[in-house]
Amino acid sequence: METETETEMEAEAETERDAGGDAGATAGRRRAGGAALDIRTRAVHVSSAPPGEGGSRPLSVPLVQSSAFAFDSADALAEAMAGPDGPYVYSRRGNPTVRALERTLAGLEGGVSALAFASGMGAISGVLLALLRPGDHVVAQRCLYGGTYAVLSDLAARYGIAVDYVDGADEAEFAALVRPTTRVLFLETIGNPVGQVPDLPGLLAAARAHGVLGVVDNSLASPVLCRPIEHGADIVVHSTTKYLAGHSDVLGGVAVFADDRLRHEIWPRTVEFGATADPFAAWLTLRGLPTLPLRIAQHCANAAALAGRLAAHPAVAAVHWPWLPGHPSCDRARALLSGGGGMVAFDLAGGRAAGRAFVARVRLARLALSLGGVETLVTHPASTSHRELDEEALAAACIGPGTVRLSVGIEDAEDLWADLAQALSEVNSVRSTQ
Ligand code: PLP
Repeated sequence: METETETEMEAEAETERDAGGDAGATAGRRRAGGAALDIRTRAVHVSSAPPGEGGSRPLSVPLVQSSAFAFDSADALAEAMAGPDGPYVYSRRGNPTVRALERTLAGLEGGVSALAFASGMGAISGVLLALLRPGDHVVAQRCLYGGTYAVLSDLAARYGIAVDYVDGADEAEFAALVRPTTRVLFLETIGNPVGQVPDLPGLLAAARAHGVLGVVDNSLASPVLCRPIEHGADIVVHSTTKYLAGHSDVLGGVAVFADDRLRHEIWPRTVEFGATADPFAAWLTLRGLPTLPLRIAQHCANAAALAGRLAAHPAVAAVHWPWLPGHPSCDRARALLSGGGGMVAFDLAGGRAAGRAFVARVRLARLALSLGGVETLVTHPASTSHRELDEEALAAACIGPGTVRLSVGIEDAEDLWADLAQALSEVNSVRSTQ
C-alpha cells in the first residue's frame, strides 16, 4: 500500500512538474491559453495529495511520519538506495511528505528541484559545506544574516576557505574580487536587518560569466516578492521557519536548484550531515503555504503604513525599509521586488538605552528573535543578539546602538501603530531624563 501511495505521489508530482513547464519564466503552471497562473492560485494548488483508496483523494498532503520503509527483497532495497529519486528507504534520505514540500517550493521558486532541511542554517551550511573545498573562495554580501556570517567566518578560520565581502550595489566590485578559485557568490534578496537590496540581476550575471555559482537567501522576500532563479541564481535558500511556514511554530530550511545536477551533487552530503527535514515540520510548512501570498500582501501593506509614520516620528533618527523613498536600495528594490517586505528596522535617536526601553514598552508587539510570522515581533540587536559587539563591530554588521528590528505581522495597522506610538512616546521621555 505504501509503495502504491508513493508511486502515485511520484506520478502526481511529475504531472505538477510537467505542468510547471517553463518554470524559469513563470515559476509555475500555465493556463490552457498559455497565461501564467497567478502566485495566489499556485500557492493553493501547487502541492496536491496523491489519490487515496477508491479514486478519492485527500485535499491536503498526508503526513507520512515513518522513519523507514519496508521492502520485499534485498535487491529491491539495494536498488532503491542508488540516488535521491528512488523509492523511499529511510527518511533522512527522503520522505514522501518532505518530497511534496520540496516539489512545492521548487515550483513556487521557479526551480527544477529542491532539498528540504531541518532549519535555514541547515540549508545554508549544508549547501556551502557540500559545494566548497579547502582553497576555494567565496564572495558574500557584507550586510548578511548573522548566522550566515558566522558560518562564513568559520569556513575562513577553520576550513581553509577564503571569503571576501561586497556591498552588492555594483557588479564591478564583485568582478574585481573574482579569482580562479572563486566558487560561490552568496547574496540576500533583502538583507537582514537593514533591508539592503543588491543588484541581483547584475551580480548573478557577472557570477555566471565567471563560472561562479550564485546562491541567494530569499527568506525575507519569499517567492511572492522575488524569484531569484528568474534573475540568474543557481541555488535559492530559505529559512522556511520565516514567511513560508509563517506561523512561528516550525523550524525548517530549503535549497531550490535551477539545475538538478546541483541537487545530485549536494544530496549525498546532506544525507551524511543529517540536517534533513522532519516530515511533521515539512507538513506544517506545506500547511502554511496556501496563505503565503495573502500574508505577504498584508505584511507589506502594514510595513508601508508603519515605515512612513516611524520616519515622521521625532524619536526615530532613520527608518530602513527597502521601498521607503530615501532608502539607499529603494530604486533597486522597487525594480526587483513586487513589494517592500515585512521587515522594518529603525534607529532610535536615543541610542542603546532607548532601544532597550522601547522593546520593554511595546504591548502588542512581542520581544522575540524570529521574524516572518503572523504576529509582530521586535528585537533590539545591540542589547540581545549582538550584545557582545562594540560600536565599530555593530556598524560592520549594519546595526546601530539604537537600531530596533520590527517584523511586521498581519494584525490591523492602526492597532500596531497605536502600540508603537505609545512605546515611542515613553522612549522620548526616557531619553530626556538620561
Ligand atoms: N537566513 C535569514 C535571512 C534569516 O533571517 C535566518 C534566521 O533568522 C536564517 C537564514 C536562519 O534560519 P533558521 O533560524 O531557520 O536556521
